[in-house]
Amino acid sequence: MFEEIFEEELSRGSVFRDASKLSPDYVPRLLVHREKEFRQLTRMFKPVIENRASQKVLITGSVGVGKTALARRFGEELVQAAKQRDIKLDYIHVNCRKQKTPYAVLMELVQHYYPRWPSRGLGPEKLLHMITEWLNKHDGYLALTLDEADFFVQLNGPDLIYSLTRAMEELGEPNRISIIAISRDPNFPRMLDAATQSTFMHNVIALDKYTAPQLVDILNYRIREAFRPGTVEQEAVLLIADIAARWGDARFALELLWRSGIIADEEQTDVVTPEHVRRAKAEVYPEVRKEVLHELHLHEKLMLMALARRLRITKQAYTSTGELERAYRVVCEEYGEKPRGHTQFWEHLRRMEGLGLIDTQISRGPKEGRTKKISIPDVPVAMLEKELEKLLEARGT
Ligand code: ADP
Ligand code: MG
Repeated sequence: MFEEIFEEELSRGSVFRDASKLSPDYVPRLLVHREKEFRQLTRMFKPVIENRASQKVLITGSVGVGKTALARRFGEELVQAAKQRDIKLDYIHVNCRKQKTPYAVLMELVQHYYPRWPSRGLGPEKLLHMITEWLNKHDGYLALTLDEADFFVQLNGPDLIYSLTRAMEELGEPNRISIIAISRDPNFPRMLDAATQSTFMHNVIALDKYTAPQLVDILNYRIREAFRPGTVEQEAVLLIADIAARWGDARFALELLWRSGIIADEEQTDVVTPEHVRRAKAEVYPEVRKEVLHELHLHEKLMLMALARRLRITKQAYTSTGELERAYRVVCEEYGEKPRGHTQFWEHLRRMEGLGLIDTQISRGPKEGRTKKISIPDVPVAMLEKELEKLLEARGT
């Protein structure tokens, strides 16, 4: 019985040729519709290759617009180009959501140069010194990407970036460390000291959200790598692109594509159709996609929590900003956080609206005058509330 199931499953066909090509870690050779930005980045790094100068660049954009993929792909080319010119240059990509402290980031760098270095012992200054010393001694250069840098600086302050950019100048040496900071928050430079701020602000690459037609091109390219020919209906591709275009998010588009393929396989059909996409969509509420919630600032989480709770309790579709602000203060008190001022409150609202997490509407009631009404689009608020509760419990860890 089980032998038969085993053989049957093994011999069953699949719509996929290589599903791993859709995994979030895989970096595609080509980034469709990002040629211009790749060129910009290359131009900014020209002095690094030609004059052994150092550079600081900021890449910004919302979730899934290809920030990480662009940096990684660029890193590969940069290393090749340096090698051809006999420059010893390493590209290191650090995800600051994983390496959350200055110590952890520096440790990752040290262990790149000294693979067997024990993970405890030295403080951050010493670790930084080890890195600069290695670079000087070996005539080496480093292009370092700090991915999710806004998250990192919010948690730790700007000191690490400051010392990384100054580490060599203080020794009177040429600066061998270039930095690519990746941030979802376009105001990232403002979190830094004035000098570092201005260098980053002169070199910003802002990635726009993808439009539906762009997502179609991206999907078709990734389908050629990951699926067997003719196994994904074009109608299905259009539907995925339409759904994901609301957030302009290629990561979400690829997740829908992958899930649709899995569902088609489970159904033992040889083509992915719009129906599979609809079922895949039902499995993932984009609004409660964990990575999006994860990447919210603490006070955005608190606000969203207040909103979800308010909507659940009042059983209404909308609440007013005044009510939300009051509910937010209550939630802040509950979690022992100091509520943010009015201006920041609005800033956070605007950002969450941009992320598609909340909907706002201007209402012109006779009494109230013009007020803003806020809602959470098509997602069970209780589910959202639970998810946020979990995140808030785990905060600071
Ligand atoms: P971000 O870092 O901005 O959140 P990612 O770089 O992780 O976004 O991109 C999300 C996913 O979409 C990745 O799997 C990436 O390979 C893919 N992707 C993004 N942009 C493109 C593109 N232009 N062409 C092909 N794949 C892309
Ligand atoms: Mg990323």
